[in-house]
Amino acid sequence: MPTPPETAKPRVLVTGAGGFIGHHLVNYLKDKGYWVRGVDIKEPEFAPTRADEFLLLDLRRWENCLDATAPVEGEPIKHVYALAADMGGMGFISKYHAEILHNNILINTHTMEAAHQNGAERYLYTSSACVYPEYLQTEAEVTALKEDDAYPAQPQDAYGWEKLITEQLAYHYRKQYGLETRTVRFHNVYGELGTWEGGREKAPAAMCRKTAYAKLLGGKEGSPGGPPQIDIWGDGEQTRSFMHVDDCVEGVYRLMMSDCADPLNLGRDRMVTINQLADIAANAAGIEIEHVHVDGPMGVRGRNSDNTKLRDVLDWEPTIALEEGIARTYAWIEEQLRAKLAAEGTAVNDNVAEPASA
Ligand code: NAD
Repeated sequence: MPTPPETAKPRVLVTGAGGFIGHHLVNYLKDKGYWVRGVDIKEPEFAPTRADEFLLLDLRRWENCLDATAPVEGEPIKHVYALAADMGGMGFISKYHAEILHNNILINTHTMEAAHQNGAERYLYTSSACVYPEYLQTEAEVTALKEDDAYPAQPQDAYGWEKLITEQLAYHYRKQYGLETRTVRFHNVYGELGTWEGGREKAPAAMCRKTAYAKLLGGKEGSPGGPPQIDIWGDGEQTRSFMHVDDCVEGVYRLMMSDCADPLNLGRDRMVTINQLADIAANAAGIEIEHVHVDGPMGVRGRNSDNTKLRDVLDWEPTIALEEGIARTYAWIEEQLRAKLAAEGTAVNDNVAEPASA
């Protein structure tokens, strides 16, 4: 049978295409042969986009959302992957509540309505494990969270409340307008080409960066020299599960194509402590490292993903082992740091081993 022409595939939009997961998703969709429009307020930071069209737009503004979802040469954008968000790791989302709630409500309500008005058929909203109530996450050894646990609602931060509100919006757009909405709840996504410094980075990238500093300069980040050390916020016994970005984009695509209209967890279900995560990063760097516990936001005490429904509806689940994913991420972050230090003219320890996967 002849292969259908490329145009047989619907045109798709990825918002947040200048960000971490959005950039990887554009690559994934291009590999599958889609025509992709990417939208963001910034270009991807670490590698050029492969999107067929990339629009720099502030999606808090209604007119920009109409432009972002507008037809291409008369053909509507049929699938919208909505990833744009004002977000970051614990250090960011535990601090800027008003800004996060304000900006994300505007981005999401405007993007969904504009997609609907412009004739989109499917719309995937990227929610978060941060929707789950604080009262179910008070112990490090927590029971994994299943989708129905989100209510009665009591998310920890404004970020989680906004995600819940937009989940509701997606539900009602499907019920009232027939827009085929899909809602994914990510559990801690990490990987190469993600923010690794500056305050918005998440725990895996922060651990890799701090480890790389300790390896290349000795001591710890900000205080070089001596045996390698790493600062860890709190006692480091808080637990999480972590998913590599390659698994993430695969799951996102499978969910978009599925019939599952209810919110779905997407994460790994292997829980580790932040101390263990630090050791995995040190192992990837090929060094031993001393943990220094300092004050800092820790988020909920424990969190894990219950993947029962994920396995059931997608007949698939993430597979990349944390050790393998962190080895890849560490190697990339060490490379970034080496380039930064070289540009500053800072000499590094050259008698250290290369990272595990390099
Ligand atoms: P990211 O910060 O790398 O990407 C988000 C992108 O949105 C950024 O490039 C940013 O510039 C863009 N953006 C912000 N404000 C905008 C605006 N006004 N107009 C247009 N673009 C704007 O984050 P990510 O990790 O790639 O996350 C993607 C989605 O997944 C987000 O919705 C996030 O809340 C969700 N999520 C991510 C994780 C994770 O672990 N990374 C976990 C749970 C949920």
